Amino acid sequence: MVPGASHAPVTGLSERWAGLGGEVGVAVDSVELWRVELPFADPVATARGVHRRRPLALVRLMGNVVSGDTRPVEGWGECAALADTTFDAEDVDRSFEVLGHQLVPALFEQLASGHHRLPGPAHLVGTRDAAPDAPLAFAALEMAVADAHLRAEGRSLASLVGVEGRTVEPGAVVGMTESVDELLARVGRLVSQGYSRVKVKIAPGWDMEPVAALARAFPHLRLQVDANASYRPGDGPGDDTGGHLAGLDRFGLLCIEQPFDPADLGAHAGLATRLSTPICLDESLDSPRRVEEALALGACSVVCVKPARLGGLGAALSVIERCRRSGVPLWMGGMFESGYARGVNTTLGALEGMSWPGDLSPSRSYLTDDLVPDEGMTAPDPRNGLHGAPAPPIRAVPRGPGMGTPPDPGALARYGTLRRVITSR
Ligand code: MG
Repeated sequence: MVPGASHAPVTGLSERWAGLGGEVGVAVDSVELWRVELPFADPVATARGVHRRRPLALVRLMGNVVSGDTRPVEGWGECAALADTTFDAEDVDRSFEVLGHQLVPALFEQLASGHHRLPGPAHLVGTRDAAPDAPLAFAALEMAVADAHLRAEGRSLASLVGVEGRTVEPGAVVGMTESVDELLARVGRLVSQGYSRVKVKIAPGWDMEPVAALARAFPHLRLQVDANASYRPGDGPGDDTGGHLAGLDRFGLLCIEQPFDPADLGAHAGLATRLSTPICLDESLDSPRRVEEALALGACSVVCVKPARLGGLGAALSVIERCRRSGVPLWMGGMFESGYARGVNTTLGALEGMSWPGDLSPSRSYLTDDLVPDEGMTAPDPRNGLHGAPAPPIRAVPRGPGMGTPPDPGALARYGTLRRVITSR
């Protein structure tokens, strides 16, 4: 549990999610799809190129509350697909097309067969089946459906999952740098801001030396490493990757994340028998069923929760509940979301079962402008500054209604590159 953060019981999450949409009727007339490009503060390099902007696909449902007084209501969803397919089979342009040509038409079909009432987010099976290979696009639509129902009911996601008014301590992420000195300087800045958990990226040739330097310079920092599937089981001195990575054990890391190919659960299970550092999976975990497989095989002992990658908020809540029940440590991952979706992740990050600060630093730490106002940090809790370090930053979960403040029309006008409206008739 994150020190200083308060947590609500997690019991009944799936039931609460399944019940959303049962209270107030919502009719949807049209769906607006947006493609926007937000400016990154620093370029982000992936295996497929350097990205200076974060393209995002957004879904906006527009309709009316039809129980009692009729009034307009909207629902916003954000797609986490990235600019390229380095980490997922979907990129943002594919998600946008799948939403426009498959998922939104399927939603309208489902609406027509259900007396034109918007189903709850847990009851979109007919819609999801229209594009089973596009979980990230579906997750965006599911988020919009949930947001519309929450707005119609005048409540927040936080109230639905029982974390209203809670706070979380965010962790920070640092990419690979040109030198170990630069890495130490960047992590040092974060430590001086009070971050108590930092994740750094590793890869063959960039692992022992930087991690040893960090462990020496910041002995009290909670450090985790993310390999983004950059190792192969036969890499390393003497073709012994396991033996090489076991060298990380002496640094007391929180976990090593996704060393091998996402499809190769067996390699991760084999590595787990040789390391005392817990193995966490991220890219491998693209559905609740995959989480079950990985845990059953012993391929991981820690789970990174990324709602979009798992197939949506409903899938994420079921994974959180399942892992919480069996004591599997969890933490919230991030995908360079806008502040809107990062607020959603922050809400989930306040749930019981989150074992340490997730990738929940403010979106303004990687974007120079955003779709929603900068919610920033609330005042740190001075009780939490450990070992003489500054108190860690604290984030409040969005108050709602719905997922939080919806995207600002001015920001959409500034950063929108494509807008498509689909109507039900
Ligand atoms: Mg990762």
